Amino acid sequence: MNFKEIIDNVVADGAAYCDIRKEHWNKTALTLKDGVPEMIVQGEEEGAMVRVLYDNGWGCVGTNDIDNLEKVAERAFKMAKKSSEYKRSETDLADIQINRDKVKMSMKEDFREISAEQKLSYLKELESLLDRDFVRSTDLRYRDFLVDKEIITSEGTHIQLQIPRILTYLIITGKSDTIQRASEGYGGTGGYEITEKTFDKAEIVLDRLETLLGASTPPSGRMPLIMDPHLAGVFSHEAFGHAAESDLVASDNSCLKGKLGQKVASDIVTIKDDPTMDGYGSFPYDDEGTKSRVRYLVKDGILNDFILDRENAWKLDMEPNGGARAEDFRVKPLVRMSNTIMEPGEMKFEELLDEVSGKGVYARSSGGGQVSPAQGTFQFNAQEAYLIEDGEIIRPLRDVSFNGFTLETLQNITGITDELETGIGHCGKGQTATVSDGAGHVLISEVMVGGRE
Ligand SMILES: [Zn+2]
Repeated sequence: MNFKEIIDNVVADGAAYCDIRKEHWNKTALTLKDGVPEMIVQGEEEGAMVRVLYDNGWGCVGTNDIDNLEKVAERAFKMAKKSSEYKRSETDLADIQINRDKVKMSMKEDFREISAEQKLSYLKELESLLDRDFVRSTDLRYRDFLVDKEIITSEGTHIQLQIPRILTYLIITGKSDTIQRASEGYGGTGGYEITEKTFDKAEIVLDRLETLLGASTPPSGRMPLIMDPHLAGVFSHEAFGHAAESDLVASDNSCLKGKLGQKVASDIVTIKDDPTMDGYGSFPYDDEGTKSRVRYLVKDGILNDFILDRENAWKLDMEPNGGARAEDFRVKPLVRMSNTIMEPGEMKFEELLDEVSGKGVYARSSGGGQVSPAQGTFQFNAQEAYLIEDGEIIRPLRDVSFNGFTLETLQNITGITDELETGIGHCGKGQTATVSDGAGHVLISEVMVGGRE
């Protein structure tokens, strides 16, 4: 029985909707720690997920037993019937255009044709660039993964996709009176050609670590803060983007609920989430077969859109915009971001500095943190930072952290430079999603700065 027949059977038995997402993965993961290969994982796997909607109840079953998908579909159907008995509220899927398409995202150099040994010697070459006396340890990670996907729905959508992704991560540590750590990653949607651009990152982490080793602890209190493009990108994703995910909005777990059309940021702020641009989070169709498109979440300070899958679009009476992504065939799609960008402004970096009177902080690159989309609060650590006094960069700082209310902070953005730099990330929400984010340098006129706990 082919996939279409399996789906047709489930619908003939009374299901409102059914889809099958079949995936074939090809993955490589290498780790080189202090020059020694610590892990090499290379392999292929295949599996599928069947989703069935029956009388407001969902049944979702993931399997790698794709030869018996008919039985898997029966299980999903039973589960949907069971969950319909417990379901307290109505649910449905907002309509989308029926799509039939086949898209292979381009790979100039196919990483499946490069041996693990060659990939290892690429990491070795990167490691040789990190050989300085202040570097105590190195940890280099290489990952590539290519997925061939097929998404078939009971409505007639049939999408075939091939998406290749690749990334390299560099982490180095050193010690002065305390241990300091610097990291940088580079990657994208594409082939082995992307690794070429990682070599520039070696110099960046070395400079950062050396700076941190000579840095002092930061001042604390409310003050102006300039975020570099990487940190401003992470801020856009973490502090704002998660709150714009429609599942959080629909379940009353977002500070943006009920604020569409309202002013949520200063006039110079425009934030988009764009799976169609080149980036680590790009895809032509989401995992429900919805064609991806750019979502302008904030336009000139006004909340304009959410990231929407079909079910939450139905709940919010909005249009699905390609926001459903699943980590792999084992799990059902969730509402996820892609490439989240705060659009460039008109200022130059020196002009942002000139705006800082008295003490301020120039914070570079993200060192982690936490956010609460429901409460609209954030706390971020900068990997690298500098003290600013009356428009001059004075000295390096370490362990810098800043926190606040997202919406208040977005209103306090008073300058954005005319450049755009992007970074990559893995977003966690129960499942991992490949994402990128970016921005220019961004001046927050006032935010709470303190040392890291
Ligand atoms: Zn995230």
